Amino acid sequence: MRIEVLAVGTELLLGQIADTNAAWLGEQLASAGVDSHFHQAVGDNHARIVLALRTALARSEGVVVCGGLGPTHDDITRQAIAEVLGVPLRRDTVIAERIRAAFEAGGRRMPESNLRQADVPDGASTIAQRLGTAPGLVCPVGAKVVYALPGVPYEMMEMFTRGVLPDLRRRQVEAGGGGIIVSRVVRTWGMSESGLGELLAPRIEALDAGGGNPTIALLASGMEGIKVRITAKATEEAAAAALLQAEEEQVRALVGASVFGIDAQTMESAVADCLQVQGRTLGLAESLTGGLVASRLVAVPGASAWFRGSVVSYASEVKRDLLGVPPGPVVSAEAARAMADGARRVLGADIGLAVTGVAGPEPQDGRRPGTVFVAVVTGDAHPVGAELQLPGDRDRVRQYACTSALDLLRRHLSNPG
Ligand code: ATP
Ligand code: MG
Repeated sequence: MRIEVLAVGTELLLGQIADTNAAWLGEQLASAGVDSHFHQAVGDNHARIVLALRTALARSEGVVVCGGLGPTHDDITRQAIAEVLGVPLRRDTVIAERIRAAFEAGGRRMPESNLRQADVPDGASTIAQRLGTAPGLVCPVGAKVVYALPGVPYEMMEMFTRGVLPDLRRRQVEAGGGGIIVSRVVRTWGMSESGLGELLAPRIEALDAGGGNPTIALLASGMEGIKVRITAKATEEAAAAALLQAEEEQVRALVGASVFGIDAQTMESAVADCLQVQGRTLGLAESLTGGLVASRLVAVPGASAWFRGSVVSYASEVKRDLLGVPPGPVVSAEAARAMADGARRVLGADIGLAVTGVAGPEPQDGRRPGTVFVAVVTGDAHPVGAELQLPGDRDRVRQYACTSALDLLRRHLSNPG
């Protein structure tokens, strides 16, 4: 079964709000095993909403519309649906009474315009309003269906789960379909998209040839690294989970140490897990990141168990006087190592991590913007370091430097050389 999402609201087109409803609905439809091949957004304009609805119904079995159900003159979704259905709107007296009662209970006088929310296209049923004042609509169009939900995200979510999902499932069973789609994201850092693509190409081809279940897709996600999304279909939850698990193992075997987490796991939580398990503490020395690394680590609950602190050693004198960095260029592998060593000592930590570099836009010490040195110093293993050339403007260089520093530490902790 194919269901489309249609978000209504001029503010979406103007970029004043992001269409988070469509994103959420897309996820819900996918995990219910419903195909969703198109998302549309349309302004508060009668003719264009009608066109968008007709377009969606021409190529799918149904549409979930969100937004434009409220009481104001720009809320015209119900009229547009009525036109597409070729039916009049009728005022539902039960709903009208409920709206009136809600106002009276709040001790407010009800503007008459609110009763517009009790107008229902002939032949449609309603999803009773609980949180807001407008009910949702379930409008059959022959064998197809239009669902209308409010635009306010939490109202929309509640009504979708309560009123739309059960109806969708019933339709799926009637259509002889069913099943679920689940996905899992394997998160990587440190490899290029093309490098990762090359590694995974044979596996992706084998899956395609074998019927395309599960599937693997690469998703370059900027500061969040490159994601490998595995999607599996099955009739049962357990079977789908087993497919995901087996494929995750395949991907891990191919990609190796560049995998730092799964789904919502972040680089900082990966580092935190390692430190926690090993019972070691960390001290930082940050130059161009100016505390960003510390800030990300402190965001992890329970950080006090393993995080000692950070020295934001921005000026060269601070690097020298406080951390003991020897004279010479402060953007260098030696300086990074001395900073890590100093942080470890000054902060009384088991491990020191340091990052220094050129954020730009101007070069420094004869180094190009984006040149970054990272070092990890522990008491018991050789210090490790990395020299990076990071892309982008000042902000991106600083953000990338932050994740790259954490990644070097993570790799060292999970596989001390
Ligand atoms: P109301 O009764 O509040 O008027 P409504 O059903 O008419 O509800 P809209 O007026 O279209 O819905 O939107 C109400 C608010 O919900 C918007 O101002 C916006 O904050 C949020 N919203 C609407 N559509 C979306 C969307 N697609 N994604 C995220 N938020 C949205
Ligand atoms: Mg509105």
